[in-house]
Amino acid sequence: MTRPRRVGVLALQGDFREHLAALRACEVEGVPVRLASDLDGVDALILPGGESTTMARLMEPGLKASIQRRSADGMPVMGTCAGMILMARDIKDGRPDQEPLKLMDISVRRNAYGRQIDSFEAEVESQAIGAPGPAVFIRAPQVAERGPDVEELASHGGHAVALKQGNRLALAFHPELTPDRRWHQYFVSLDGESR
Ligand code: GLN
Repeated sequence: MTRPRRVGVLALQGDFREHLAALRACEVEGVPVRLASDLDGVDALILPGGESTTMARLMEPGLKASIQRRSADGMPVMGTCAGMILMARDIKDGRPDQEPLKLMDISVRRNAYGRQIDSFEAEVESQAIGAPGPAVFIRAPQVAERGPDVEELASHGGHAVALKQGNRLALAFHPELTPDRRWHQYFVSLDGESR
């Protein structure tokens, strides 16, 4: 497989509709994923923004296990904001019952930007998307630690805000909330075989 043809979007809570719309704009078929069986027909998966505690609670155990297995087998996964939190190996100050999927070797701190600037828009620069593009941060997480295999694709204010490990991509912001589709295009161009 080269480019993913059908991209699943975890559709339990959060802004999955915006991700489905972004995929349509990229002329890629988006598939809402609610059950483990929904994963069977997809080549890649997006974990949307929203509330990571709620999403973790609504995911049935079979779905969590399938996501972990497919990711280990090479399925590309992108998490945005709450989705990034779900991808982490460890959540600082998460809720005790909030078990992340541990898809990437990152440790994240939820709601790390504080009250004053907990939501803002900024220009983010990355070779992954070419020229700088808009990024919407809403009660965004910050990366506290990352392993040696995790590459920083973009930073803002001294913090890594886009990270890549093999074909797993974690963004602290919401590319789905801007008309700029380059992050989705970048994601769907990731090779399904590489780890
Ligand atoms: N603060 C949210 C959480 O902890 C994430 C916010 C978002 O996805 N915009 O899950």
